[in-house]
Amino acid sequence: MLLKRWTLFDKAELIVLCNAVDRTYLSDRLPYPYTDADADWWLGMVELNEGKMGVFRAIVVDGKIIGSISVERSLEDPNEGEVGYMLLKEHWSKGIATEMVSQICGIAFRELLLDRIVAKVYESNVASIKVLEKNGFVCVQTLNNVTTKEGYTTIMQVYSTQSPVGAQDIKQVDSSPAFTHTIIAGPCSVESEAQILATAQALAKIPEVKMLRGGIWKPRTRPAAFEGRGEEGLVWLRKAKQTTGLPIITEVATPEHVELALKYDIDALWVGARTVVNPFSVQQLADAIRGVDIPVFIKNPVSPDLQLWIGAFERFQKAGVTRLVAIHRGFSYYKESPYRNFPMWEIPIELTQKLNVPIVTDVSHICGNRELLQATAQKALDLATDGLMIECHINPAEALTDAKQQITPDELKSLLAGLTFRSKSSCHVERDLANLRSEIDDIDNELLQLLARRMEVSAQIGEYKKRNNVTVVQMDRWKKILAEHVATGADLGLSPQLIDEVFEAIHQASIERQSSIMED
Ligand code: PEP
Ligand code: MN
Repeated sequence: MLLKRWTLFDKAELIVLCNAVDRTYLSDRLPYPYTDADADWWLGMVELNEGKMGVFRAIVVDGKIIGSISVERSLEDPNEGEVGYMLLKEHWSKGIATEMVSQICGIAFRELLLDRIVAKVYESNVASIKVLEKNGFVCVQTLNNVTTKEGYTTIMQVYSTQSPVGAQDIKQVDSSPAFTHTIIAGPCSVESEAQILATAQALAKIPEVKMLRGGIWKPRTRPAAFEGRGEEGLVWLRKAKQTTGLPIITEVATPEHVELALKYDIDALWVGARTVVNPFSVQQLADAIRGVDIPVFIKNPVSPDLQLWIGAFERFQKAGVTRLVAIHRGFSYYKESPYRNFPMWEIPIELTQKLNVPIVTDVSHICGNRELLQATAQKALDLATDGLMIECHINPAEALTDAKQQITPDELKSLLAGLTFRSKSSCHVERDLANLRSEIDDIDNELLQLLARRMEVSAQIGEYKKRNNVTVVQMDRWKKILAEHVATGADLGLSPQLIDEVFEAIHQASIERQSSIMED
């Protein structure tokens, strides 16, 4: 028995499994009959949430999928996960369930950094209770009067097990490369059938590339520029999907774009940075997508406005879109910078902390040139991004849009080979460190401001002393002050030597300042 990650190729087996499985103890969340569309939804959901909101595995025996098991993070308490599984009846009572629960709990504790995993079972499900108990689960709660899907009331028990090591410990030691990243690549614009097909075919040979991007309608700064191929481009993009198997994503800015994109089997949509700034447009898009189960990727608005970005997520959430992903593409910035769009990493970090959505970093539009791509992609990975969007063109020099930032599929291959894909937990270490470092920077800044203020007051004293003919140094007063500082410092855990050295240096600088005032 082994657990394997779900892939798009498991669709047919997934449908057979879900239609064949015994449903006595399963929740009615599992549709019946289980259709092609149900399988598409599930596999898409798994792809986006794997390693973040849950861990999802197929149970394989003799090369065949015989069940499914997952641990999903609780929405109320992110430190808690819930395990759920299904297994074809002919494989019950063979020890398989015990083994797979043991394995999935190990994976979930490691990858999701949970404190505990719970399971909810009907009292009558004796076999599952045994499986849980063998894995160290204990009953922590009994829920009376739970209504089953058949409509009778029964007792449900909540079993729980604790992480063998605290989540904090795992953060320090886990370096498993299990965390997967989604790479989205493709041209800025779909320009011709030959261009998109050649680009897609080269990209499909790179295993990390999971999705093909291509702009069909291009928001251009000036009206004379190439504004995209429109509907005929969709025909070519769909052909690229059919010949490579890569799912496709494109930008939509109006309800008409949404309608056409759906007509041509686009798998996911993104909302561009210029659209996200306008709540009217975002609302129109949300209304157009209402009732359609398609993943929507939301780019940050061009302006560094976190609330505006969050607002766009809320509009799509309210329209019932369940699969939402953020794209960080940097922000317009008035100061000169090496970037086309300034990254301001703290904004996407805050977004993901507030909304708990996956995030993809569009390094191409952040950088605006090829040279910065590698370092920026690494930085994004170090700060725990879930994926990268990188513009690729079969012949970047001839690209009709964003020629300076596009790379060839071959260049993408070497860029990816040069990246370190860290486990998520070590990214968290990096992110915590980044937060602490920025706190240190803030404190240093405050220290500098305080020092400047102190020198200012000291100069005023100098003027005063000069007018009243008082000496610069009054040794007795200074010795007394220093002794007080050393005592206060000791209370705060600071060594006498540090206080002595710091204040001597400050005092010395003050004396020099006052002396020069006296001499003027
Ligand atoms: C693009 O992805 O090609 C694009 C136009 O992006 P943005 O909305 O981030 O400028
Ligand atoms: Mn572009």
